[in-house]
Order: sequence, then C-alpha cells, then structure tokens
Amino acid sequence: MTKLYIAVPCYNEEEVLKDSAHKLLHKLNEMIGKGTVSDDSKIVFIDDGSKDRTWEIIGKLHDETKMVQGIKLTGNCGHQNALLCGLMTLKDKCDAIISIDADLQDDIDVFDEMIEKYEDGCDVVYGVRSKRDSDTFFKRFSAKMYYKILNHLGAKIVVDHADFRLMSARALESFSQFKEVNLFLRGMVPMVGYKSAIVTYERKERLYGESKYSLKDMIALAVEGVTSLSIRPIKLIAKIGLLIFLVSIAMLIYTLVRYFMGATEVGWASLAVSIWAIGGLQLLAIGVIGEYIGKIYLETKARPRYIVETYLDDDE
Ligand code: UDP
Ligand code: MG
Repeated sequence: MTKLYIAVPCYNEEEVLKDSAHKLLHKLNEMIGKGTVSDDSKIVFIDDGSKDRTWEIIGKLHDETKMVQGIKLTGNCGHQNALLCGLMTLKDKCDAIISIDADLQDDIDVFDEMIEKYEDGCDVVYGVRSKRDSDTFFKRFSAKMYYKILNHLGAKIVVDHADFRLMSARALESFSQFKEVNLFLRGMVPMVGYKSAIVTYERKERLYGESKYSLKDMIALAVEGVTSLSIRPIKLIAKIGLLIFLVSIAMLIYTLVRYFMGATEVGWASLAVSIWAIGGLQLLAIGVIGEYIGKIYLETKARPRYIVETYLDDDE
C-alpha cells in the first residue's frame, strides 16, 4: 500500500491553517479507511518563517495527532524553497509526496486519482486546472501569454499546472540531483522524465486570508521561470545584432547609389552607414559574449545530464 506524505508550505497562514488541516486529515483518514494509502501516511506543514501564529497552530495539531508533522525554517525563504525543503526532507520516508498550497485552492478530492495513476506506474502526476474562472481576467490573460512564451523559449512546461502534484520517491530521488539555487519547480520537474500523467480539477478561491503572492512576486517568479529555464533571450541578442549589421550593408548600398546619383550631402553616407554598422557589430559582440555566459550558466547549474530509470543486467 502506498505510504503517502502531503507536503504543505505555509507562510502566515494562521487564518486558513486549522480549517485546511482538518480537511486534509479528513481526506487522509478517508483514504486510509478505503485502503488506498497506508495508515502511517502523514501531513507535513513547512513553516516558511511565518510571523504570525502559524507555527504554534502546527505544534497544536501535532500534539492532537501524530498524523500531522511540522518543519520550521529559520526565516522566510519563499514558497519554492519551502516546498523543496519539504520534498527533500521527506523523500526517503515515504513512497510518494503530494504537494499542495496551504489555502487548499487546489482540489483535495483528486488525491485518489493521483494515487491511482501512481499505482499505474506514473512517477509524476500533475494537477492541472480545467477552468480559470476563479482568476481575474488579467491573471488568466497573463498566464496564457506566459505559457506561450515559455514554450517558445524551449521550456517543457505543463500548461495550467502550478505546484500541485504527486511525485514518487524515485522521481524525488532523481530530482535531488538538481542542485540549482534559482528554483522554478514546475519547470524543473518535467526534466526528471519518467512516465507522467495529469489529473484535472477546478481551482477554487482562497477562503480565508489573502494571497501571499503580490504582483511583484508574480513578476519575479515569471522572470525566474524564463531565466532559469532558457538561455534563448541571450541568443536573441546575437540575432538582432546580425540583423542590424545586415541593415548596415543595405544602407551602404543605398548610400553609394545616392552618392553616385549626386543626391547627398557631404558626410551623410559615411555617417549613416557607420551608425548602423557599429550598432550592429556591438550587439553582435555582446551576443557572442552572451553565448559564452549562457554556457557558463548552464555549467554552473550542474544539472544531471541523464537519469537512469532501469538497468537490466544479469545479476539476478
Ligand atoms: N508561501 C510560502 N512562502 C512564501 C509565500 C507563500 O511558503 O514566502 C506559501 C503559502 O503559504 C501558500 C503557497 O505558498 O501555501 C502559495 O501561496 P498563495 O496561496 O498565497 O499563492 P496564490 O495561490 O495566490 O498564487
Ligand atoms: Mg493560493
């Protein structure tokens, strides 16, 4: 039977925490009752340096039932880091981890389906929103554009999936080989490979408290996504440089023609051509340097170059 851990990052969540914990406990007990998960499954709250009573509440819940555990970080490290801490701390204790936000905007009733897919042999099961009704028009529009851009930049990303997913212990073990510090988990998880599946659900509105992600945080996460998954923006510089340099050649031909037609001012031809030529060459040079920086960047991440799933040898 699957030993399931549920990892929940929390930052100043005193308003929702009790309610969420009870719903999660109810769900987990129901699953244990049905025999879908083992009775030593747990819910683990990761307190990301909250300044309110979050940790106190986690402590109380832990006293009430050993099914609830808590991890406290020394200070606020951000959602992605708190979640990673949960995944890495717990990966050796269970068969699979489901990660979910403390506000339970994601539907806990798809846990069963996630476990089913896991038992069918999927190592990663992504929770994907079917509708975005609970979002503002702006959030829907920007999210759609964003996924388009990311896909264009060559990142493998699951559309409309945030950080609600199940990962098997072995997928987590492979994931632990990714040592980068700039985290955009939803973009990195697909890199571990293995068989994966998606389950869809309708995302609800936050019941209590408010979103811990301001517009500024959202933009920061979006930029993080692009810059930690792709070095194509740098390559773009070289392309633009080349383009402008080509324009300068066209300008050269044009100005020569004008010159021989006698229709130019003195000095105009050389000036016009050099502006484009220098601009283009400079951008091109920056692009070349960027190309190397991109390589250095990828080297410093030291990502695993491959992950072995099975090795059929003749030991047995
Ligand atoms: N969170 C965190 N650290 C932070 C900010 C947020 O651990 O610095 C947690 C938060 O408690 C919640 C999850 O990350 O469980 C997602 O935050 P939120 O629901 O506010 O984001 P939204 O749903 O608005 O995108
Ligand atoms: Mg939320």
